[in-house]
Amino acid sequence: TNSSDAFPWDALPIRDELRGKTPYGAPQLDVPVRLNTNENPYPLPEELVRRIAERVADAARDLNRYPDRDAVELRTELARYLSRTGGHPVTEEQVWAANGSNEILQQLLQAFGGPGRAALGFEPSYSMHGLISRGTGTEWISGPRNDDFTIDVAAARALIAERRPDVVFICSPNNPTGTAVAADTVLALYDAAQAARAETGGALVVIDEAYGEFSHRPSLLPLIEGRRNLVVSRTMSKAFGAAGLRLGYLAADPAVVGAVQLVRLPYHLSAVTQATALAALEHTDTLLSYVDQLKAERDRLVTELRAAGCEVVDSDANFVQFGRFDGAGGAHAAWQALLDRGVLVRDNGVPGWLRVSAGTPDENDAFLEAVRELMKEQS
Ligand code: PMP
Repeated sequence: TNSSDAFPWDALPIRDELRGKTPYGAPQLDVPVRLNTNENPYPLPEELVRRIAERVADAARDLNRYPDRDAVELRTELARYLSRTGGHPVTEEQVWAANGSNEILQQLLQAFGGPGRAALGFEPSYSMHGLISRGTGTEWISGPRNDDFTIDVAAARALIAERRPDVVFICSPNNPTGTAVAADTVLALYDAAQAARAETGGALVVIDEAYGEFSHRPSLLPLIEGRRNLVVSRTMSKAFGAAGLRLGYLAADPAVVGAVQLVRLPYHLSAVTQATALAALEHTDTLLSYVDQLKAERDRLVTELRAAGCEVVDSDANFVQFGRFDGAGGAHAAWQALLDRGVLVRDNGVPGWLRVSAGTPDENDAFLEAVRELMKEQS
């Protein structure tokens, strides 16, 4: 096919690096069991839905005015939540919030990446790290992982020393593999990145903890202490079950918060968003009890998938990477076979592997049954 049929925007005076590219996105298919985008399967409790309606009604009375540009009340409550659950006290000056952690990452790259600069990550990982880098004109450097999807510290240090990136992404727990990163590894990479860019004041190291609440290990948040160039990025999309809200946040040195304020759009967080997030934070304990259920279901998926004859990567997230589908058609054929049984999982393009999000016990049972059938067919 002609490239302008497949990519009609190529006929426009679009930036060269966007030619021939397709937008990020998993298929949004209407099937009985949807376990493909790492959402929380539990709807918000009715009590919280009513509280959101109240707080949004209050906010609506002031919608003729711009919202609090610095979202101080929300950042204060996020700081309280992190201090309570992250193993390290943080203040509102160390916290910044935006429309999803994707916007947090974009603001960080706008401030610390950009033309003439480079960002590095260890793949397979969250593909938006590379896409937002490119979208902000930042060169993307793809670093490797070991066969078990852990980070090879020696190889990573050598790559950082050689390429001297301005920004380093460490995704923990890592999407799509579920792999948590040890604090020692983060510190080794942080030191390597600071040494490589010593003459420009170091490099920004971003720990993407979108799935932090699901980990068997404690948060890496305490590592920001005394490390000005270390940022922890979080989201309410997963643990808080509020993907539709669009609320992400970071914790770092107050200077980093100051830096992202140079690039954020004025009034980027609507009054409705701030009111909804504040209502959700009032119900943290209920929402975290769902996280406990999901962690138990995630562990059950790992055990049952192994019992069904699959290879499974140890998971610290609310999803599990399983395989290996190396036969005819590879992972994509297995993805289709599960879809034919009414179960939608994710093919992230990692050869031989698929990813399933932990759903409700019933959804997980349906998924496991479909996998058992598939594995029998394949043996
Ligand atoms: N980081 C990681 C690792 C993710 O998997 C996701 C969502 N898929 C995000 C960030 C972004 O999530 P959100 O913008 O909803 O906060």
